[in-house]
Amino acid sequence: MKKLALHWQILIGMLAGILFGLVMTSIDGGATFVGNWIKPLGTIFVKLLKLIAVPLIIASLIKGISDLKDISKFRNIGLRTIGIYIGTTVIAITLGLLLVNIVKPGNGISEETITRLTETYANSGSVQAKIAEATKQKSSGPLQFMEDMVPDNAIKAMGSNKSMLQVIFFTIFLGISMLLVGEKKSKPLKKFFDSLNEVVLKMVDLIMLSAPYAVFALLANVVVSSNDPDLLIALLKYAFTVIGGLLLMIVFYMILVGVFVKKNPLWFLKQISPAQLLAFSTSSSAATLPVTMERVEEHVGVDKEVSSFVLPVGATINMDGTSLYQAVAAVFIAQALSFDLTFADQLTIILTALLASIGSAAVPGAGMVMLVIVLEAVGFPGDKLAIGLALIFAVDRPLDMCRTVINVTGDATVSSLVAKSVGKLGDPSPKNWNDHYDEVK
Ligand code: ASP
Repeated sequence: MKKLALHWQILIGMLAGILFGLVMTSIDGGATFVGNWIKPLGTIFVKLLKLIAVPLIIASLIKGISDLKDISKFRNIGLRTIGIYIGTTVIAITLGLLLVNIVKPGNGISEETITRLTETYANSGSVQAKIAEATKQKSSGPLQFMEDMVPDNAIKAMGSNKSMLQVIFFTIFLGISMLLVGEKKSKPLKKFFDSLNEVVLKMVDLIMLSAPYAVFALLANVVVSSNDPDLLIALLKYAFTVIGGLLLMIVFYMILVGVFVKKNPLWFLKQISPAQLLAFSTSSSAATLPVTMERVEEHVGVDKEVSSFVLPVGATINMDGTSLYQAVAAVFIAQALSFDLTFADQLTIILTALLASIGSAAVPGAGMVMLVIVLEAVGFPGDKLAIGLALIFAVDRPLDMCRTVINVTGDATVSSLVAKSVGKLGDPSPKNWNDHYDEVK
């Protein structure tokens, strides 16, 4: 019998998880049961993916750079990548602003709903923690991000998933130095990293065997810990504005794939779908990164010289979904609380949301922290920030799941675009976890 494709298996796992979560919500003690016995499966899966992220980035980036025939090619790839990333993010924000100004989801929110949302969330630990974190980030100088990118201890940088850019910086430095010592001297190191790269990709295949069960656990847990459904309904217009914008972004990417990458957009979506489904289930582009890399390289055919740089950098700085959401959420809050935004304010939102999405960590809920900075940039009163965040808090998790899908799709699209433009898009060569199983059985 033909085995069901991975994306179908994952999709079934997700649907079963949602149904199971719904059933458990209606049973006494169901939520506790899910928390104690089901949630750990999902958490372990996410931990496994994060576990291999740093070795994978290092091994594949070294392989990518040391395969280059000359360094100028790397500069070329780097400049194109950053340019396209900024371009797609600005398009995402502009699209978000257009939609929210046309739909005006904030205008219909009643005083009563605002009061109810404020009472429920404004003083909650999560909202206050997000404001505190944003204040910490804001107090840094304009070049702080450059300072932060350079580690003073390579091992320490590798020890934390939060310092992805530091790891990338160190690895590029190492890779370029390997090119400069010449092929003969760098050969042993190159062989080591090539082999490490193969092995870590095999680890991705093995982890993915459990993906359908893990997404079941992740989604069951999301359902049992979700908020009051009444409040969700009050925010439906806002949620649909964000989701509509995110769907339009998918259309935009598909046009890019069809016109510039010259691949069938539906084929492309099918190839990267397991990464998209995991982005939805985990709400974290960082956790999804190993799978995004595997899909883009093996299933789309992007050469490692491109993907090894474009994808890890993208997971950290390119967040089109997050930036679109920040634009919609900022204007929605302003509309709901009758805070007038001028045209200049909207331009400020484009700029700050661009910087904020670059600065957002690739983890669940990070986009909301940076939203505080966007709001403050347009002069939103500090004492109303908590109320503003409280308004959107109830739907933040589902929207986070959706925007993370766009963040990951954007990275995959741009890596294919860059690969095509530098002649590095080849034929796909998918590998299975058991390709060499017979030899060791
Ligand atoms: N969860 C998103 C990501 O990991 C970031 C965010 O928008 O909160 O890409």
